[in-house]
Amino acid sequence: MSSPPPARFLIRYITRVELKEIVNQGKLVSDEIVLSLLSKRLEAGEAKGESGFILDGFPRTIRQAEILEGMIDIDLVVNLKLREDVLIEKCLGRRLCSQCGKNFNMASINVKGENGNPAISMAPLLPPANCMSKLITRADDTEEVVRERLRIYSEKSQPVEDFYCSRGKLLEFDLPGGIPESWPKLLEALDLDDYEEKRSAAA
Ligand SMILES: [Zn+2]
Repeated sequence: MSSPPPARFLIRYITRVELKEIVNQGKLVSDEIVLSLLSKRLEAGEAKGESGFILDGFPRTIRQAEILEGMIDIDLVVNLKLREDVLIEKCLGRRLCSQCGKNFNMASINVKGENGNPAISMAPLLPPANCMSKLITRADDTEEVVRERLRIYSEKSQPVEDFYCSRGKLLEFDLPGGIPESWPKLLEALDLDDYEEKRSAAA
């Protein structure tokens, strides 16, 4: 990825006192504040010689995307997609250890490729023996709640996807499985498949 150009920071910086006041009042942090914190971080990274950055799960709204666009150039937006039935199964497989607080996933996904759809396989993330008897399911990990969460997510993310699609910056990526299956294919899609090789050759 090319290095980001010098950012034009249009947003007034928020002071720590202001942020503390908002948090103490239990208020939601506004887009302006989130983006001002982000611009501070990007500016600090640029000063340290960072050549790029990845934002995970941001922006979530058109408004955030518009403000971000005024701040800095985004090269590419990658939309990681997973079939809804698999996503639901994976969400329903989530378990939490009531003792150590670690997260696990009991769902073992093995969808055969058929009707032109690719196969999807995802291994479970099983707990060690001492956590096994202490596993709990979160109260809101029910199919009804998960479906509702997904509905709200797609309703909110669609306009943001359209925003980047219209600018030719959206890469749709269908996840073929878990991280071991997805990582090489993602690098390939990003044309970075030999990135690790190049880096170790240069070292
Ligand atoms: Zn545990």
